[in-house]
Amino acid sequence: MKYIIVILVVLVYFSSEILDVLKLSQMSSDCRRQAIVFYCIAHVKQIPVHIKEANRSYSRQFALFEQGRFTDGAIVTNALPSESKHTIGQAFDVDLTNLDRNQFDELVDIAVKLNFTNGSRFKSLIDSCHFELITKN
Ligand SMILES: [Zn+2]
Repeated sequence: MKYIIVILVVLVYFSSEILDVLKLSQMSSDCRRQAIVFYCIAHVKQIPVHIKEANRSYSRQFALFEQGRFTDGAIVTNALPSESKHTIGQAFDVDLTNLDRNQFDELVDIAVKLNFTNGSRFKSLIDSCHFELITKN
């Protein structure tokens, strides 16, 4: 019984980190490798980064594409499922709510050095929480 309580306390204390690890584990191997380094550097620099969403099913991406076009809400993406890096495990969105401007800029610098691009650099539909691996194709 004592061990179960200890395990529960650890799970609750580290629950957001455990969810981050689960989301990292869903990414493609090349993206996961870089994203783990990104995540670790951010935490060493005490930037409180958590992953909101990584991989998406085609149906989830299509529902997001429909939002603001065919369903209620604002347009949040221009990417159809076949165009989104989320559906191939090469993108993730981070929770920006606990970051100040300097921390966000530092996060983007870390990401760029690891071959990611950030949605704040998109020409249309700025998506600052979005990071995606730059690939050759
Ligand atoms: Zn995204």
